[in-house]
Amino acid sequence: MKIADKNTKAIDLVREALEKAKSYEQYHCFISMNEARALEKAREIDEKIARGEKVGRLAGVPYALKDNYLSREGVTTAAARMLDNFPSPITSTAVAKLEAEGAIMIGRTNLDAYAHGSSTENSYFGPTHNAFDMERVAGGSSGGSAVAVALDIVPFALGSDTGGSIRQPASYNGVWGVKPTYGAVSRYGVVAMASSTDTMGVLAQTADDADLVMSIIAGKDPKDSTTIDDFWYRELDDAKPKKKKIGLIKDFLGGGVDAEVVKAIRDYAERAKKAGFEVEEIEIPIMKYGLAIYYIVQPAEVASNLSRYDGVRYGHRAADVTDLDSVYSKTRDEGFMPENKRRIMIGNFVLSSGFFDAYYLKAQKARTLLINAYNEAFEKYDALLCAVAPAPAFKLGEKTNDPLQMYMEDMMSVLPSLAGLPAISAPATMSKSGLPIGAQLVGPRKSDQVLLNIAKTVEGVK
Ligand code: GLN
Repeated sequence: MKIADKNTKAIDLVREALEKAKSYEQYHCFISMNEARALEKAREIDEKIARGEKVGRLAGVPYALKDNYLSREGVTTAAARMLDNFPSPITSTAVAKLEAEGAIMIGRTNLDAYAHGSSTENSYFGPTHNAFDMERVAGGSSGGSAVAVALDIVPFALGSDTGGSIRQPASYNGVWGVKPTYGAVSRYGVVAMASSTDTMGVLAQTADDADLVMSIIAGKDPKDSTTIDDFWYRELDDAKPKKKKIGLIKDFLGGGVDAEVVKAIRDYAERAKKAGFEVEEIEIPIMKYGLAIYYIVQPAEVASNLSRYDGVRYGHRAADVTDLDSVYSKTRDEGFMPENKRRIMIGNFVLSSGFFDAYYLKAQKARTLLINAYNEAFEKYDALLCAVAPAPAFKLGEKTNDPLQMYMEDMMSVLPSLAGLPAISAPATMSKSGLPIGAQLVGPRKSDQVLLNIAKTVEGVK
């Protein structure tokens, strides 16, 4: 990552990023640009350097921000009409930490509205296109961030991951994606999706850059009581990957996963062996229920989190409303996308008194069994390997009329989310048709850097 110093001007780095963003407008990575402010900040950093003052670890580095992070710079839409003109009253902790180190946000990236989705097609502002094929999806929900990094507009972008939203678009666009241990990075100032699995992380061009950015944004935050003490302090190379043991999840080497993806993961396992890791197949039967658990727990939390948008306190309010009921119903009808409404309905259903025990409670019990299965696996293995998504990027429009097909995308990515575990997506290979395929590594809590280091070591083996 190029950092501003005596030889490299921040203004040039930022100008170049802004120009690239313009030349790639057809991909629709961005919802809004932050041009004037970004240039102003770059000038400030250059002046500081000229005066010999100390600057941060990311001085002058341009980055892109998923548009569900609040920042005082511009509006935060979450890609929903509900917030399409919402000036952020606060700045999220992650953004504040990046800015303190001199990073410069050049624009806000596109996502599925409220981060509900796996393709960035659920955006009120229209879809983002895949960096490798304009006719294919970017993945989601952090699709704009992934494509902005893949097109080399910026070296890194922030994303959020509730059930795969950093990892799957990273995999679809051949970049690195880090979904950290739950609680590693503050959720303060990020539009909530499902609070028990929401995590904030990064998409980057290299493992080292991802590690550096994570080391900056991680840490305890008094404004988010679920944050844990900072554990992101080692040098990446200190994680001694060679002695590690990897479990290759057998349950995902067949049915439901594309043959080309299975081969890519098997090849990745072979490279890991060549790199000196021990690799063994492991069966974890409960994993096939992950999707069913997630699509009960997550909509329940979504229904609760989205109840605050009532046309009174936040954002959009419908015109021509006659009474309280129509304020709520018309505002919510206009402000949410169909996928948001679907989740609100499912969520309220599974939480309703007649069905709570049969659905929500049962799903939470199954979630505990999944966590136990992970714990057992980690007694033997340092990391578990499988694909991120069952196939490479699909065609735009291919799954928009079939929500269940879209949900199937998430069968492998929701698992570590439910257990609060760190998971990364590392570029593995390219498909025959020239689309990137990512490998997913999952480890015990706080092993985030170990995972990055394993993948970085495998990257060096062809
Ligand atoms: N694709 C998953 C979903 O739609 C995950 C989304 C996310 O991580 N924000 O729920």
